[in-house]
Amino acid sequence: MASRPRTIALIVAAGAGSRMGGDIPKQFRQVRGQPMLRHSYAALTQHPEIDAVFVAIADGQEADALSALEGLPSPKLVSGGATRRLSVRHGLEAIAAGGGVDQVLIHDAARPFLHADVISRLTDALREAPGAVPALPVVDSLARGEAVLADTVDRENLWRIQTPQAFRFDAILAAHRGWSGDEPTDDARMLMTAGQEVRMVQGDEALAKFTFASDFAGHDMPISTRSGSGFDVHRLVPGEQLWLCGIRIPHHLGLSGHSDADVAMHALTDATLGAMALGDIGDHFPPSDPQWRGASSDRFLAHAMKLARDAGYELANCDVTIICEAPKIGPHKAAMRARLAEIMTVDVASISVKATTTEMLGFTGRGEGIAAQAVATLERRC
Ligand code: MG
Repeated sequence: MASRPRTIALIVAAGAGSRMGGDIPKQFRQVRGQPMLRHSYAALTQHPEIDAVFVAIADGQEADALSALEGLPSPKLVSGGATRRLSVRHGLEAIAAGGGVDQVLIHDAARPFLHADVISRLTDALREAPGAVPALPVVDSLARGEAVLADTVDRENLWRIQTPQAFRFDAILAAHRGWSGDEPTDDARMLMTAGQEVRMVQGDEALAKFTFASDFAGHDMPISTRSGSGFDVHRLVPGEQLWLCGIRIPHHLGLSGHSDADVAMHALTDATLGAMALGDIGDHFPPSDPQWRGASSDRFLAHAMKLARDAGYELANCDVTIICEAPKIGPHKAAMRARLAEIMTVDVASISVKATTTEMLGFTGRGEGIAAQAVATLERRC
């Protein structure tokens, strides 16, 4: 099988946002609890076919961009230009300078709600054509007129074209370098002007562009919220490593059992699966299967999060409680939260890790084992 093409995404986030009102450029304004840019940046960095994400920003926006993307894989920032076309051109030249790229997805930050299946449809289409765009049919009646309705426009074969737009890299770079016309409406237009074919793939209503201040209204209400709980216990024994929330803790005892026996991560994995009513960790990774012996538990949690995302859900928050007399958990909490955030590819602010003892009572009090419980809440917002 041929190796997968190297694919880079470029997000154009260089606007001043003057139509939106307010002082903050719209790509940094909060929408559904996060800066707008963060939504599509996270979707692109999480997609298995995207190797790197560049972001074109206006001069002086570095701090805003870095703050908006804090905790996510480090962005490659590029200075934008005076127009959208020039911002894309600068981005493409920066990507070209790095070399070795086969395909590029060019996306507008103003379309924050980018789902993985749109990205996959675009990259699939690039096997057949040098360009591909998400398209949706026009459903409203269209008309010409000034104040008074004049001609109706036949909407058959009319499409709304969205971003990301996907291209074979050399083709779109050549189209940009050779461009001499008026400002184009989008990059697909430039590729077509260069005589090349652009395919349409199914777009997504959720990808709607934020253009007016009123577009922000109503976006903070989740349309579906689900919660799950998880509980787990493993035995403390000599001769094992102690892993909790993906962090190796120095201790004279370690946990025994399924995989690396990371009891806290197992509880959180079960909470995530539970929220989606997708069974428990043992259903997905049977303890009887030797391939999970000693395995790092991060893959279980990442898998549970992927299943949730596949169903359109994101983590709203989770709360993990580790129950043991020793070792002390406090010094490790920050590292635990950071590691869980990395595995789940979410904001560290969404993750809580706590610890308690049982006042020397019971098996945890006697140091025979460690227990953990977790609650996870997932939300679908589009
Ligand atoms: Mg377990």
